[in-house]
Amino acid sequence: MDYTEVFPKLISHCKEHGYIFQSSEIYENGLPAVYDYGPLGVLMKNNLRNLWWKSMVQLQPNIVGLDAAILMHPQVWKASGHVDAFNDPLIDNKDSKKRYRADQLIEDWISKRWDKARKDADKKAAKEGWETGGEEHTQFMRNAREGQKAREAEAKLAALLQAGDLAGLKELIEELEIVCEVSGTANWTEVRQFNLMFKTQMGATTEGASDLYLRPETAQGIFVNFLNVQKTSRQKLPFGIAQTGKAFRNEIVARQFIFRMREFEQMEMQFFVKPGTQQEHYEYWRSERLKWHHRLGIRPDRLRLHDHDKLAHYADAAVDIEFHFPFGFRELEGIHSRTDFDLSRHQELSGKKLQYFDPEENRNYIPYVVETSVGLDRLFLAHLSQAYQEEEVPTAKGESEVRTVLRLHPLVAPVQVAILPLVKKDGLPELAQEVLNDLRWFMQAEYDDKDAIGRRYRRQDAKGTPFCVTIDHDSLQDEAVTLRERDSMQQQRIPIRLLRNHLQSALSFKQLMS
Ligand code: ATP
Repeated sequence: MDYTEVFPKLISHCKEHGYIFQSSEIYENGLPAVYDYGPLGVLMKNNLRNLWWKSMVQLQPNIVGLDAAILMHPQVWKASGHVDAFNDPLIDNKDSKKRYRADQLIEDWISKRWDKARKDADKKAAKEGWETGGEEHTQFMRNAREGQKAREAEAKLAALLQAGDLAGLKELIEELEIVCEVSGTANWTEVRQFNLMFKTQMGATTEGASDLYLRPETAQGIFVNFLNVQKTSRQKLPFGIAQTGKAFRNEIVARQFIFRMREFEQMEMQFFVKPGTQQEHYEYWRSERLKWHHRLGIRPDRLRLHDHDKLAHYADAAVDIEFHFPFGFRELEGIHSRTDFDLSRHQELSGKKLQYFDPEENRNYIPYVVETSVGLDRLFLAHLSQAYQEEEVPTAKGESEVRTVLRLHPLVAPVQVAILPLVKKDGLPELAQEVLNDLRWFMQAEYDDKDAIGRRYRRQDAKGTPFCVTIDHDSLQDEAVTLRERDSMQQQRIPIRLLRNHLQSALSFKQLMS
């Protein structure tokens, strides 16, 4: 199956197997770009969050955790720049009335040119024996006609965004002859700025109420608590504060399932460092975060680093870790060197000092910050996209059938092991329950006794369960079970007394991280 075909299949698979449901879907169309995680989805999401948390907090002596509230003082968002600058440029097609982000329309156009240039370069590389992604391949791609067009448009877009030139964005859309995918016309409105924050009110009466925002990122909860955390945890620079939690953005265009949601979850870590040392910490986290994704089983060829051409108002360096989703390479995680922008702004607007006393230098200063910020839902989608496969396998009768399998990393999969008694009688269910009762203390284990064993294996493959344990009549005599591995479908006989250890070592977090 072609990778680009995975996306629609994945969306129905998620619904059918209880991974993800559209929010409020019993009402017409549900709530767009808001999703609920079902029984399997919540297990997998918790696993990803825990793996991140353990890697960031449990294993790092100088990173501590925080759980700040979603609602914050309105001045926070003034200080951070979100009230004035958290805007996206939007444009409408007058014929279809469909709304787009102007910058994304151009980025999609650029990405198509690159795809074309890549295809040409692949053909040439096959002929010349060049390595894909190697020097010659990359040069050919850049210098191909389509590659040149892409680079020119990239440079223009970066300059326009940097200058905040909305009229220029519209001109570029026209110059590139970009048309609406619905109407097929280039009948565009002017480009306008749209603030992405959700507003709400606090207080019982309208007169006394004050305007609040649902946080558009979790980071600011960390900045305003910087001194509280530093003092109570007695950390010395460099040190980090990690947090996971919900963030809200009133996204203009949200058409890609859980890739772009209006309510989503972030996992962020702000690393506070001595001014002047930010570059080395930035380099460290850039490579560390990439390694982390590899360790969790994301294929290296599905990830790439993309340095920002246009830096946000607060940053002196920034890179995206992009994942190759079925609809193209897109941002999965951002690593940003945020300078002392946030702490300085909060110090300025609150009138409270947010400085660190450096005992070695015997002076106070505002630390610099390097941030790592990954969307939990996007990480979830990345893992599912890579894992989803349909493949032909032989049946017991020597015929063949198609199985849908989620090749998820065993620590990411929602359920680690399924216990399957071959029949519902002769003492097999009792033994199966005993095995289950032992394993469930250590991992997510489930019991399944419905349907023929082959169908049960297929069901577990579709859920992504890495191990199945089958209990048959021999198990009563030899005190052993059949352990089936999802990806290879290989089976081995294993004594019940060794089963737990065997599974635990296959699920070892230590092994994963070292
Ligand atoms: P994009 O350019 O895709 O809008 P961004 O650069 O605005 O993303 P950041 O502000 O850097 O994103 O947020 C950090 C991370 O949070 C992103 O890398 C992404 O994984 C996640 N994220 C941001 N917006 C959304 C969203 N609307 N839905 C799901 N995840 C999101």
